[in-house]
Amino acid sequence: EDSNESDEKSSEIFDSSSNHVHPFGKPLNILRFGENGQFIVDNETLNDMFNHPDVKDCKIVAVSIIGAFRKGKSFLMDYALRFMYGNYKSVAYPDNPLNNTANWMGEPEEKLRGFSWRGGVQRDTSGVILWSDIFLHEAVDKKNKKNKKLAIVLMDTQGLFDTKTSPTDNSRIFALGTLASSIQIFNLNDVIQENQLEYLHLATEFSQFAMKENKNNRKRSKNYKPFQKLVFLMRDWQNKQDYVYGEVGGMGYLSNVLQTRPDQPVSLANVRNFIKSSFESLDCFLMPHPGATVTTDENYEGQRIGLSEDFEEYLGIFLEFILAPRKLIAKRILNNEVSGSEYVEYIKAYFRAFES
Ligand code: GDP
Ligand code: MG
Repeated sequence: EDSNESDEKSSEIFDSSSNHVHPFGKPLNILRFGENGQFIVDNETLNDMFNHPDVKDCKIVAVSIIGAFRKGKSFLMDYALRFMYGNYKSVAYPDNPLNNTANWMGEPEEKLRGFSWRGGVQRDTSGVILWSDIFLHEAVDKKNKKNKKLAIVLMDTQGLFDTKTSPTDNSRIFALGTLASSIQIFNLNDVIQENQLEYLHLATEFSQFAMKENKNNRKRSKNYKPFQKLVFLMRDWQNKQDYVYGEVGGMGYLSNVLQTRPDQPVSLANVRNFIKSSFESLDCFLMPHPGATVTTDENYEGQRIGLSEDFEEYLGIFLEFILAPRKLIAKRILNNEVSGSEYVEYIKAYFRAFES
């Protein structure tokens, strides 16, 4: 590895010499670890993004993905970008004609661009990565029937469970992803393991701790849940005899995993109850294997043509399931939907709470 971070100030991890060049945006490493494990937060970039005139008054929808490295997170987020550009206008591309909706997944031979996947240029970078461009959507508020403007931000995380990152740092990144998002995708391979649930428990406790630190905290009702949506995304699902691909199989599988039983050790039940009490909605989606080209072809660059038929189909279904206009969830902090300018202040406060 020769990718030595030299420019401490720049959060750009984008290498213009690579063919990951995207016409409308780039990945911004807004939070990363410094030499001594301390957080380095790019407040300036955060301010620029969320206090942007097109964004500051919109309610924020923040979609984050988290999970172990080299499990296809960034790959998925690059397809999520295709979905977003195919279905929404954005700050950098306000004139998007949106006539490519049906074909949002792109041409068969088109190389995948966006958040760099497969490590590549920024293998040493860990932390939270935001897509620089923000998507815009006008929704009708169910309560007062008025239009409300949404600004949708995509967030990738990197460096979890790798050899260099400590368990505490892993938990901190995980917790920050939860705090900063309204939709958190927990990307897992094969099956949900007990230690992954424990890990989720720990990270969620960290998140709640950071919220309690916040002096704006108020008394809340008994069934208040601090976080909104958590989606377990199971990659390379193998057991389709018992649980079919997609949302339905996923819900069946998840309810089985999260079930508490009298004969279970108390600690296992506690972890499950804590997770259930922390998120308003828990979903699970079972993804097929992407095929041999994706996992073994060294020259593969993410083209749609390399995807297995099943994977391609369920990739579309999944992204619809998460990102379709009717699925968008505005970020609520302490029960209030927050605007861009409020969101950025909360995020900065959370990041500070985790500094050490
Ligand atoms: P990340 O570290 O989790 O962001 O993983 P990347 O998106 O960089 O992908 C790591 C490797 O996994 C790449 O070689 C991808 O081609 C491959 N990959 C992408 N999606 C999947 C998947 O669903 N299953 C498997 N087994 N590999 C995948
Ligand atoms: Mg990645």
